[in-house]
Amino acid sequence: MKNKKKEKVSSLKNYVYMLKFISKHTPLLVVGYLLIDVLGNLPWTLSNVVLLKYILDVVADGTGYERILFALIFFVAFVIITNLLTTVFYEITMPKQKEKLYYAIYRTIYEKAAKMDYEAYDNPEYYNDLVLAMNSMNERAYSVLSNTQSIFTEFIGIVTIGAVIISIDPVCLLFVAVCVAFMIPVGRVIAKINVKRTEAMIPLDRKNLYFSRVFYLQDYAKELRLSGAGEMIERRYNKNIFDRIDTIMPFLSKQWKLYFCQEALPMTLLIYLGITLLMGYKAIVTKEIGLGDFAATFNGATSISNSVFAITSQFAIHIRENGLYIEKFRKFMNAKEKMISGSNTTVFEKPVTIKFQNVSFKYPGTEKYVLKNINLELTPYKKIALVGYNGAGKTTLTNLILRLYDVTEGAITINGVDIREWDIKEYHKNFAAVFQDFSLFGATLGENISMDDKPDEKRTEEALEKASFYRELPNGTDSILLREFDDDGVSLSGGEAQKIAIARAFYKDCPFAILDEPSANLDPVAEYSLNQSMAKAADRKTVIFISHRLSTTVMADEIYMLEKGEIIEHGSHDELMSLDGKYAYMFRLQAEKYKK
Ligand code: ADP
Repeated sequence: MKNKKKEKVSSLKNYVYMLKFISKHTPLLVVGYLLIDVLGNLPWTLSNVVLLKYILDVVADGTGYERILFALIFFVAFVIITNLLTTVFYEITMPKQKEKLYYAIYRTIYEKAAKMDYEAYDNPEYYNDLVLAMNSMNERAYSVLSNTQSIFTEFIGIVTIGAVIISIDPVCLLFVAVCVAFMIPVGRVIAKINVKRTEAMIPLDRKNLYFSRVFYLQDYAKELRLSGAGEMIERRYNKNIFDRIDTIMPFLSKQWKLYFCQEALPMTLLIYLGITLLMGYKAIVTKEIGLGDFAATFNGATSISNSVFAITSQFAIHIRENGLYIEKFRKFMNAKEKMISGSNTTVFEKPVTIKFQNVSFKYPGTEKYVLKNINLELTPYKKIALVGYNGAGKTTLTNLILRLYDVTEGAITINGVDIREWDIKEYHKNFAAVFQDFSLFGATLGENISMDDKPDEKRTEEALEKASFYRELPNGTDSILLREFDDDGVSLSGGEAQKIAIARAFYKDCPFAILDEPSANLDPVAEYSLNQSMAKAADRKTVIFISHRLSTTVMADEIYMLEKGEIIEHGSHDELMSLDGKYAYMFRLQAEKYKK
């Protein structure tokens, strides 16, 4: 019982939350939706009862034909005016306001997602909430709006028609009341089943979203064409569709019976049969009422029952169903960032010392330490290479420097100050990072390098040169990359794209550059130029880079060799070669390959 009440309260809370959100961002949409629909529907609701009664009464009177004419002129004028207002609203105001609402929804989601801890992406629950919010919130917001509109309109209809019926014969309302008393509990059962149905479908909906991503994202396009993965995914997709049908069927087979009981039985027995017989008796046998009253009560009672049916079943269902999704949106919006931002806002102009003091780390939600008791000191202006086998912990180490995660034990300091004391946003200004999985954006070349819509032309050119990007593009640094914003957008090779990502690090005026596998996609000539550029850049930057190509690490001032989360060797290339340990072994192995 308690649970039931809780569920109802939370559906309602979610509903009100969304309605408040919409009212805050687009009040005109809410006001317009409520008033315009009532205005648009009222003449038709009333014409079925009031106008019909008036005309039939006049006809029964047998006099005053002009009264019908005047009533009709009044009615038509009312319809034309309301029609004009509704058309202007639905065709002009609403589309504009809807765009504003969708902007508000997505801006809110994007802002929250960008602020959220990076580690939240490792949490499937958070990620699923984000995906659901992204994919369904505009549809749900719109649904909340139209449900509110319908409830409001139906409610106004019930009140006005109810008043008319009471004035004719209150007994009719008794029939309506019995009909409603039957409909409401059945409607509740239907709504409950529907909530269960929606809950059961959410994981299958999620799978469907994944399948569509696989087929529309370019990331998967090559694999799909070459590897036969398309057919494998299609089979899974097909299975998911059958799973959906199997999941939904038991609910549907219960629901159709209830719908039938809810609408057909009480409506047929109480309204069509009951009211017709009662009012027919009064009109024909006892002659207590006229033809107009008979028609008005019959139509009015049908209309009220339909409205109640609509409110109890349809809207109760939608309110709860929307509530489930809005709940996920709220959960996503209310998710607290675990990473606490400090108040230090120092952004260094010149490189300073970064120190790891007994740092150990395990990823949130996992038990295994991926870094163990790391101690190192990155002194200013040095070029530092991190080397080691896959999974040794190199990327994790740079993730900790960038404070994408907080250390589990120990501390990282900059000039003696714990990095957790920094305001995270300000802290990040100290770093330029090129990730292995870097992204280019649908923007100009200049914007892609400066990450700003007003790139400095000279600095952009310099950064491109340092990154060995020499390709002449049709509009220079104003050329648009990717095809999303321009059909003639430039497509780049993997190596060219990587050079742009590297140019970003050279453009950004900051003391540290972190490059994860910067030469992975580069040809040997470009790799050589990159090494030269890094050497020059080291005059003004500390460069930390991860590399599997040990020809790059020869240039480094210091090399840290990691294995299973620990630093096993440290020194310059020459020192490590004369140590003749694992680094020397790896280096010789690679050098052999080049000799062949
Ligand atoms: P490297 O860069 O040296 O190849 P990584 O730092 O990427 O190694 O990974 C070190 C270890 O941490 C690996 O065992 C990897 O599976 C694990 N790991 C990496 N990222 C995550 C994550 N987000 N959640 C859990 N474990 C992770």
